[in-house]
Amino acid sequence: MTQTINEQLVTFLNESMTCFHAVHNMKQRLLKENYIELSEGTTWNLEEGKGYFVTRNNSSIIAWNMACKNYTSFHLVSSHSDSPCFKVKDNPEIVKDGYVKLNTERYGGMLMNPWFDRPLSVAGRVIVKEGNSFQTKLVNIDKDYLITPSVAPHLNRNANNGFVYNAQVDLLPILGSEDCKGLFQKQIAEYANVNEDSILASDLFVYPRDKGSIWGANNEYISSPRLDDLQCAFASLNALLQATPTTSIPVFVCFDNEEVGSLTKQGADSTFLKDTLLRINNACNKTQEDFHTTLASSFMVSADNAHAIHPNHGEMHDPINHPQMNKGIVIKHNANQKYTTDALSCAIFKDICAKANVPTQTFVNRSDAPGGSTLGNISNAHVSLNCVDIGLAQLAMHSTYETAGAKDTEYLIKALTAYYSSSLKMQDAYTYNLD
Ligand code: ZN
Repeated sequence: MTQTINEQLVTFLNESMTCFHAVHNMKQRLLKENYIELSEGTTWNLEEGKGYFVTRNNSSIIAWNMACKNYTSFHLVSSHSDSPCFKVKDNPEIVKDGYVKLNTERYGGMLMNPWFDRPLSVAGRVIVKEGNSFQTKLVNIDKDYLITPSVAPHLNRNANNGFVYNAQVDLLPILGSEDCKGLFQKQIAEYANVNEDSILASDLFVYPRDKGSIWGANNEYISSPRLDDLQCAFASLNALLQATPTTSIPVFVCFDNEEVGSLTKQGADSTFLKDTLLRINNACNKTQEDFHTTLASSFMVSADNAHAIHPNHGEMHDPINHPQMNKGIVIKHNANQKYTTDALSCAIFKDICAKANVPTQTFVNRSDAPGGSTLGNISNAHVSLNCVDIGLAQLAMHSTYETAGAKDTEYLIKALTAYYSSSLKMQDAYTYNLD
């Protein structure tokens, strides 16, 4: 089973080269499972027993199982669809010294070093005008298309001495020789299957061509681009589809723009989640008061990958709370609340995992390291819920090729299926019941 899940995960990762492709692939999976697509631009009529989903910007998606119209809570899991990469600028071709290079800028905080000397390509979306309508088309140049060459140590004697990269100088990939001047836009149009003149604007990203791999002496690891955070998105979507909910509504949320601060119309720092929950409430003929009592009993699992202890740099981690790959779900804690986990949310989530026979472990940063933050507290500013921050342990976060444990995806699916199938209820200020 673990092998099959990992093979499915690898396929999903290979086909999800941008946030737009990730959301498209999740949509296709939901449609196959008879989920119904809703538009934010039309009135919603929801029927009990059916599954629904809605997207915003084609890069964030929320799906839920309308198991019970008389529900008492939402059980949410959030993840993110984007990954650090390079965005292609407008007027991207730079012709110089016999080459055509692509002019790009950084999207998010990637490790720069792994972007050199490997096949890269371009994917994303173009907006085309047909008559009086603006349409979104996905595009992927599905071939080895670009390379960003490093500088040989003979030319740069500091190459191995902590060289500082400049994104405007060092990270521009070669598209071809100067003979290919003007070809980029033509090829984007060709791969998008549209007329070049009809493209008005685009969101195009450079992505690594490496395919996911299951490896190690006992096949104990899985490596791929974009494990952060598509591994959690994949696991939570599978859990949604496997769950048997009772009186809570299981909600799958995958936000774009986590890597750049979430403050976009479709990010965790937007109204997308609150709007969706409120519309579910209204479509079920519930009152504003019902909405508040429901939120009081609701819970969110903010799922974003965590740092596994590094094999060569154990000293960079907390002396005790340093997770390992294949040892179960990581619960993240931070005294300054960059992670939302508190004693109550930790206790509830640990109990769910224990009942599902899934091990958990703890992550806390070294006390002298700032660490990162994630979706939970940003989303909580809009819809405030009991929330736990979790993730799967991985190495080389924000590299072009990240590594995680082969057993952990299955652990997360099992735990989240149990969570989506349970129901939390607030009794009073001191007491919650979980059924
Ligand atoms: Zn992440």
